[in-house]
Amino acid sequence: MDLGLNGRRALVCAASAGLGYACAEALAREGAAVTITGRDAAALERAAARLRAETGAEIAAAAGDITTEAGRAAAFAVCPAPDILINNAGGPPAGDFREFTEAQWQAALNANMLTPIAMMRAVVDGMAARRFGRIVNITSAAVKAPMPGLALSNTARTGLTGFVAGLSREVAWANVVINNMLPGPFDTGRLRRNLSPGGAIDNAAAERGMAAWAARIPARRVGNPAEFGAVCAFLCSAHAGFIVGQNILLDGGEFNSTI
Ligand code: NAP
Repeated sequence: MDLGLNGRRALVCAASAGLGYACAEALAREGAAVTITGRDAAALERAAARLRAETGAEIAAAAGDITTEAGRAAAFAVCPAPDILINNAGGPPAGDFREFTEAQWQAALNANMLTPIAMMRAVVDGMAARRFGRIVNITSAAVKAPMPGLALSNTARTGLTGFVAGLSREVAWANVVINNMLPGPFDTGRLRRNLSPGGAIDNAAAERGMAAWAARIPARRVGNPAEFGAVCAFLCSAHAGFIVGQNILLDGGEFNSTI
């Protein structure tokens, strides 16, 4: 299937690794010109070089923290009028909600709710004027089923989800569609770090953690980021114009429900 992405300009936030990288790769393979962002400029350049080598697509890099105004300005300086926007950023820390400070709450709300809203605010009117726009927000399975110890994530991402439910219906008339993707466990650096006892990745511990998690998942495995990227590319495709304001759960069936 031709996704109709050839020549489209995509801005993929937080994409030097993990799920963001997988989305960038899938879009680039479909012929989009992709700008990726990340805080570590050297890691970002390495990721851009890898994407160029693997896909042959036009890849640009905009270093910066996407949760700051300066980081967002840097991204738009490189990709001023994207046809496709993938909103992503690091997730907030786990912990007991009684112990989170005001500053931690503000940081989580900023990173996982206000930042994607600011990004959408900057692009939706231009997309509507051009009669094409595709926005995917990477949220979390925690929106569907709250995760213990993840109050910051559960709360901020649910706020974003409410916002998207409204905005997506305001701009769909102009062929601007906005959807959210909700990852369950995907094998990324973040998951491996979270499953390691110390701060750094311990691959043996991470493999054990993933195996234990996989036993609770009907698919009996964790997700492969490439699968996530492929779904993202479809949601950005010419064929996705009637998918509006949806929350697509990718969790191997872990969330048990009839609909
Ligand atoms: P990851 O493997 O740690 O990759 C995160 C990427 O985002 C890196 O390229 C990182 O580069 C970049 N990044 C992080 N914070 C940034 C910021 N403020 N500004 C710009 N770039 C930033 O993480 P992941 O597993 O792909 O997770 C992506 C998102 O999905 C997170 O919000 C996570 O909570 C959520 N999620 C993941 C899973 C999972 O199983 N993987 C499940 C549910 C939800 P720099 O560090 O250089 O900036």
